[in-house]
Amino acid sequence: MDRIPLIRRAGLAFLTVVSLGCGMSESAEQEAGDAMAAQVVRETPVFADTALDAWLDALGARIVAVADSQRRDWHFTVIDRDDLNAFAIPGGHVFVHRGLLAAAGSMSEVAGVLGHEIAHVTLRHSARQLGKRTRTGVIVGLFCTVTGWCAGDVAQVAIEIGGAAWMARHSRSDEAQSDSAAIEYLVRAGIDPAGVTRMFERMAAERTTKPGAIEAFFSSHPLDDQRVNSTRAQVSRARPGPSLQVDDSVFVRVRPGRGAG
Ligand SMILES: [Zn+2]
Repeated sequence: MDRIPLIRRAGLAFLTVVSLGCGMSESAEQEAGDAMAAQVVRETPVFADTALDAWLDALGARIVAVADSQRRDWHFTVIDRDDLNAFAIPGGHVFVHRGLLAAAGSMSEVAGVLGHEIAHVTLRHSARQLGKRTRTGVIVGLFCTVTGWCAGDVAQVAIEIGGAAWMARHSRSDEAQSDSAAIEYLVRAGIDPAGVTRMFERMAAERTTKPGAIEAFFSSHPLDDQRVNSTRAQVSRARPGPSLQVDDSVFVRVRPGRGAG
């Protein structure tokens, strides 16, 4: 962005130079994540539908209850875009595009996506990516205190550094870990884990018919046959019986239409 003040660009350059691959503290992760999430909400259209939001929050809370021992303050937000995409930001912010909810065949497919994104947060994948680039709060704070240049602008700097990391492609091993965790979370929450693979199949079909609709998801969540097959095998091992929930009647009512909005 060419409107980034020169001083902030100087800060960025400095931070790039001093980034040493250190881990990131949990409070720094939360602070950077909150700032990034606020930026997303400012810059993307949010799909405001009270009934859908309530349903998504409840489903998210059901998974988080079995997934997050740290009891983060989670936020689930629907972005008003047609394509099938979802992403998570460190600290507990999960964003799901309206198009993905519209395309989902059942509650368990949405749960699979939420489980996967929640796992990126609980396993701190993005935080580790962030940590590789900067010592974040500590270094940013130190730099600002010493120079006095970016008074009050810590969050903005974190966004610009963190944004690049957060947009980065997750590694194959991060993806595999998040898939496994999603299966586990769903079973623990009493939801059919086959939702994870059903959503993969839906996306693969969509990739053939409407390649543009899922590009963003695949660019940050690489999906190949090996990943799909290994997930399918894990689902068949993890599935204890027919008691797991596949769908719910509320989702049928609140699911947005394709192309709506
Ligand atoms: Zn992923």
